[in-house]
Amino acid sequence: MECTRCGACCVAPDIAALDKPLGMRCPHLTADNLCSVYDRRPQVCRSYEPDEVCQLIEAPTLEERVQKYLALFGLTGEAEATRQAGCASMRRARGGA
Ligand code: SF4
Ligand code: SF4
Repeated sequence: MECTRCGACCVAPDIAALDKPLGMRCPHLTADNLCSVYDRRPQVCRSYEPDEVCQLIEAPTLEERVQKYLALFGLTGEAEATRQAGCASMRRARGGA
């Protein structure tokens, strides 16, 4: 499976190592969907491999791909609540400190 650099995996999932909440753009993702900290990105990003999910979420826009990703994992409601709260921290979104 080839990575199309669509950016969805840097937006849709929550990423503990970055304290990045569900459905919110990683602050390190540039406007053209590249990683601005590529050489020092966390291990979780280094280990991420494109898989069948990348195909399942194919759509014309990044926002649509993100929505399909969230729906695939049953996370649409949780991501929407986080977005509405404008919560920039995964730990706070989950009710932690
Ligand atoms: S979702 Fe898949 S295709 Fe898109 S950037 Fe991530 S690994 Fe690449
Ligand atoms: S650090 Fe880079 S690779 Fe990791 S989620 Fe952010 S933009 Fe994507």
